[in-house]
Amino acid sequence: MNVEPITVAVRDLSQGYTDNAVGGVTAYGGDLDVRPPYQREFVYRDDRRDEVVRTILKGLPLNVMYWVDRGPDARPRYEVMDGQQRTISVCSYVAGQYSLDGRFFFNLPRDVKERILGYPLTVYVCSGTESEKLDWFRIVNIAGVQLNDQELLNAVYAGPWVADARARFSKPGGPAVQVGGDWLKGSAIRQDYLATVLGWAAARHGASVEDYMGTHQHDPTAQALWSYFRSVLDWAQAVFPVYRREMKGLPWGPMYDANRDRTDLDPNALEARVQELMADEDVTRKSGVYRYLLDGDERRLSIRAFDKRTQRAAYEAQGHRCAVCGGEFGLADMHADHIVPWSRGGHTVPDNCQMLCRDCNLRKGAQR
Ligand SMILES: [Zn+2]
Repeated sequence: MNVEPITVAVRDLSQGYTDNAVGGVTAYGGDLDVRPPYQREFVYRDDRRDEVVRTILKGLPLNVMYWVDRGPDARPRYEVMDGQQRTISVCSYVAGQYSLDGRFFFNLPRDVKERILGYPLTVYVCSGTESEKLDWFRIVNIAGVQLNDQELLNAVYAGPWVADARARFSKPGGPAVQVGGDWLKGSAIRQDYLATVLGWAAARHGASVEDYMGTHQHDPTAQALWSYFRSVLDWAQAVFPVYRREMKGLPWGPMYDANRDRTDLDPNALEARVQELMADEDVTRKSGVYRYLLDGDERRLSIRAFDKRTQRAAYEAQGHRCAVCGGEFGLADMHADHIVPWSRGGHTVPDNCQMLCRDCNLRKGAQR
């Protein structure tokens, strides 16, 4: 990343300033995109607009602005990364679009006009790769709002693909909310849906989200990502046809990718098991039920442990001795164990508790 400080007079900045409701805002003789796509959703307050012009009139310094150099062949060559509000405030004042203290720019005495036009703005011009740009975006506070990671990625990889992905995944009441609102956690507008689905899509290609977005940046639409999302939901609904709130926020993408080709999954049998497990008091993490049924990993269920009182009672009943090797140990060096494992129907009840020394407990764990 190369950062070059330059000085731009208001005279040059406001040259050719146009505010086109559709196409955006340009300045600096048409060579500066003031409102690049990722800036368009931010709305600025008018009262800060006046402060910008007052600061210039007093000859006080404005904060540094940041532009991105898009390269010598790009038109406009530069885009505003930070400083959109300041740019629009001063340019639209010079263009006579609003008055300050009852005076438009064209009403001002000549020397005051000159003072404004000659005012030097400090601009840091940044150029580099997309990922270097991303690092820069993380530091700069675009629009005075701290962007979250996905918003930053959307800014760096802006283009038709991101625009379409956002239209599908990030709109309140939009397509993803309608079909996936029960399945995804977070807020669409804060990009949680898009971040989740991009995470799934990138992971199935063994890529980082950043690389995945870089690969697709210039695709005309995000149809492929959308189709993948629909496939994930179709599969999830076919395999687990009864909806429960514990399904919300599970990693359905990776679950689909790992199991999509299986032919042994019987939705009726699975639903019967879901019912059992949901009712099982020893299963303390109910949201783990679905993944457990797919991969058999008991740790997902967080099987209830024996409480301290039960452990103490077993320890005393065993005469402080390990139930397997018979060695004598302190209570703190022993572990409570299900005599009949939970997976074979043993429950977390006092009768099913035995105390094992550390080694015996590890050995038993390894045998499972
Ligand atoms: Zn032992």
